[in-house]
Amino acid sequence: MTKEFICIVCPNSCRLTVSETEGKITVTGNECPRGEKHGVHEYREPTRMIATTVAIVGGSLPRLPVISVKEAPKALLGRCLEVLYGMKVRAPVRCGDIIVKNICDTGVDIAASRSINRKDG
Ligand code: SF4
Repeated sequence: MTKEFICIVCPNSCRLTVSETEGKITVTGNECPRGEKHGVHEYREPTRMIATTVAIVGGSLPRLPVISVKEAPKALLGRCLEVLYGMKVRAPVRCGDIIVKNICDTGVDIAASRSINRKDG
């Protein structure tokens, strides 16, 4: 199987071609070793950080910015975002508070990326 990716490790944006033959993965198009590592990772187990907002009740702002504490499997991002879009947290929230533990059984926690006080506080 052959897949193509754009390397996102640096602004060069090299066009990577990743091929697997009899269990051996080869990467071409990379201008440095970091691109080879990125290509293999994208081919085998692509992951992404999750950064979005969730609704907050009683807060001084209507939405709370949140971010994953590490990258989550790319294939589960849509399901994770559905969970986050559908939830409401209650103010106050401190930056770094864990909002969801082990979201969608990914082993990844979601944390508040800023503090929000109560509207009246
Ligand atoms: S392969 Fe190397 S030079 Fe090319 S985009 Fe990736 S990190 Fe940058």
